[in-house]
Amino acid sequence: MSNSDNSSSRNGISRRQFLKSSALSSLGLGTFMLGGCDTNSQSFQDRGEAKNVIFMVSDGMSAGTFNMGDLIKRRQFGNLSHWVDLYNSDRKFHRGIMDMASLNSPVTGSAAAASSWGCGHRINNQAVNTGPNGEEYKPINQIFKDAGKKTGLVTTTRITHATPAGFSVSIDSRGKEDQIAKKYLQREYDLMLGGGARHFKADSRDDGQDLISKFSDKNYTIARTKQELSEASVDSRLLGLFYDSHLPYTIDHQTIDEHQKNIPNLAEMTDKALQHLENQNGFILQVEGGRVDHGAHTNDAAGMLYDQVAFDDAVKVALDFVDQRDDTLLIITTDHGNANPALNAAGDGYNDSGPFFDRLQDFRHSNNWILSELDENSSVADIRERVEYATQLGIEKEEAQTLRKALNGNLETIYDIKNYPSSVLGSILANYTSVSFTSGGHTSDYVELAALGPGIENLDHFTRNTELFDLMVNAAGVNANMAIA
Ligand SMILES: [Zn+2]
Repeated sequence: MSNSDNSSSRNGISRRQFLKSSALSSLGLGTFMLGGCDTNSQSFQDRGEAKNVIFMVSDGMSAGTFNMGDLIKRRQFGNLSHWVDLYNSDRKFHRGIMDMASLNSPVTGSAAAASSWGCGHRINNQAVNTGPNGEEYKPINQIFKDAGKKTGLVTTTRITHATPAGFSVSIDSRGKEDQIAKKYLQREYDLMLGGGARHFKADSRDDGQDLISKFSDKNYTIARTKQELSEASVDSRLLGLFYDSHLPYTIDHQTIDEHQKNIPNLAEMTDKALQHLENQNGFILQVEGGRVDHGAHTNDAAGMLYDQVAFDDAVKVALDFVDQRDDTLLIITTDHGNANPALNAAGDGYNDSGPFFDRLQDFRHSNNWILSELDENSSVADIRERVEYATQLGIEKEEAQTLRKALNGNLETIYDIKNYPSSVLGSILANYTSVSFTSGGHTSDYVELAALGPGIENLDHFTRNTELFDLMVNAAGVNANMAIA
């Protein structure tokens, strides 16, 4: 759908029908299902003006996270976020909101959300490109690979986590990460960078297999450190695993020297991926700022927002790439809201909101780091000392006592899910930062969606999640009909 004359390219078919035809065609059950689609699919091949697709997702980014990420950029670093700056620029871009519902709920999980983009179907939460009756849908990376394009995944979570998996494999449960790693080996995608080494190593996989050696046998370069990533040749396929589980939060990364030395940040990985994937046939690359979501789950303003800033730095890398060319579709979005944080009114005339918010600049560690050494045996003094070390804030004794109760499982709150230690710590810190959260889980928010490049003229300002699958395959002119999952 990249023909600039849209009315002629559609041959009288409505835009919605047109988009839908390619979603049906991704059903991996054989072409007999697809009778009416062949005409369209053949003409897609001629239409593709998007040689490359870059899909950027800040996982679990509520509207308040987008806002406060930008506020930190302005107040601490003196510039708007690159994402907001895009809206100020004279580039041609699409901006809209998107409905991310899954098949079984208005509140979606990351696996169903990534699958809606990855195969064009809404499925139940927790599954990956697999329908409720076991239908396996062909994932978009495989569709692009079959069309001769390179494929890449970059994330700050385990590389086997829901969002990268949603572009790459079909499986009934996102939790089967050992199996997802094995499917990556079978499918031979060109580049994977992130955490999650534990799902590739013999001593931590359930089946005892050494997948790292198996990738090496298939001529992948293996990078385990930032240095090895920078030295990796762009000529061979690349598997970069920089941590056993998720990569550390940015707020911990910047405080711990060893992390700084050994673990690349999201912008560095994105830059390497673009160098690596660029080729004459084009590529698809998914980039995920995956721990924005985790910071929201744990009501951790600093953990969440500095990862949002790191995501924005990666957005800059992608914008620099597309600014030099007109053959790349760039999508920047999130998969759902999470815990809907906000900077709240504080003080007379709300005079305290800004200064309170700026206290986040002195934080050295995530809430996860704070809580990792606290348990039911921690004293009030232990709690106050550890919180102060991490945040430079001297919390009240009564506040530390409340957290102690939560650590003991003895705290009753009016809204049940606010009694977790992470929620209680988040609420205590809100007294000092004025940033609070509504829950510890995902929300049904319609989400922010930005896009640049070939095909964006076909997007409505209110988009259904599955339409992004159609946009990508149509803009790239790849054939979604071929083969099974
Ligand atoms: Zn989540």
